[in-house]
Amino acid sequence: MTDRHDENAGPDRTGANQTAADRAGGDRAGPRPPSEPARRLGAHVEAARLAPGLYLVATPIGAARDITLRALDVLNSADQLAAEDTRVLRHLMDIHGIPLRGRRILSYHDHNGDRARPALLAALAEGGSVAYCSDAGTPLVADPGYRLALDAALAGARVHALPGPSAALAALTLSGLPSDRFLFLGFPPPTKAARLTFLRRWMAVDVTLILFESPRRVNRTLEDLCEIDANRITVVARELTKKFEEVIRGTAAELAADPRMATLKGEVVMVLDRPSAVEVDEDRLDQVLLGHMATMSVKDAAREAAQELGLPKRDVYQRALGLAERD
Ligand code: SAM
Repeated sequence: MTDRHDENAGPDRTGANQTAADRAGGDRAGPRPPSEPARRLGAHVEAARLAPGLYLVATPIGAARDITLRALDVLNSADQLAAEDTRVLRHLMDIHGIPLRGRRILSYHDHNGDRARPALLAALAEGGSVAYCSDAGTPLVADPGYRLALDAALAGARVHALPGPSAALAALTLSGLPSDRFLFLGFPPPTKAARLTFLRRWMAVDVTLILFESPRRVNRTLEDLCEIDANRITVVARELTKKFEEVIRGTAAELAADPRMATLKGEVVMVLDRPSAVEVDEDRLDQVLLGHMATMSVKDAAREAAQELGLPKRDVYQRALGLAERD
């Protein structure tokens, strides 16, 4: 059985995220403790008949109690259940005491999607409610479910999103990096040349970047980051919401030299800061831009120059427009 949904895991058990003040019972100058201790409260799972449609249900990425009440309602009441891995969903339902009531969980994943979709679409066409879960986190986000959701919508079924855990967003919120503008890149290509091209392209964009990476490849990806921008603040967030949750920050060069990176275990998200405002040598920028503008459109020349000099595309484009007007 996979440990996808861990009954016991959570930051409370590890204290991983506690500050010294937390462990000491809070900062003396901080808020007063409540006048009575917290009591156990009953969470109510609904058993009402669901409206027809496809329900895309987010599930925990570690701590099983990260499930939402609405997700439990839907898993309890849906006519048909489908999952990327049927055992993982079964285990999650067992943890939360949700009975199958004679329902079968259909398997739906990347390798059987074309074969499995018709049965789920037929259930929807008959007015049924279908709940779909991937192994962990939000379905469709680097996970199966896209074609199912699209085909269901095209067939006229109502598609409902049940938001919840997401490794990308959990890592972003812990990263300490700006969260007002970010880009989720999924998994980078596994081969070096393709990965370098991919990283070079996206690292020039003025946004925080979120990447999924295999723990075995984090080291190589850090080496590639160093080739492009060794000073880029990089965060490696692993095993989020689980017992060994860890968030490691530093420049790409610092992390590449960190011996922990060679033996990382578990699931990993990498978060990269946006490019820093580099001191621009304007003469050099103009020289590069004019060189490209001799053979390219202003837009293409700006893109090339931005990539070459590691500068924000928008700023370089403004400069290129100025040069074009001057000529
Ligand atoms: N759909 C999922 C979501 O919304 O979080 C992501 C599924 S994707 C196939 C699996 C990848 O997500 C892992 O390889 C890892 O990069 C990231 N991931 C999933 N759970 C994680 C966790 N608990 N801690 C860190 N990264 C995690």
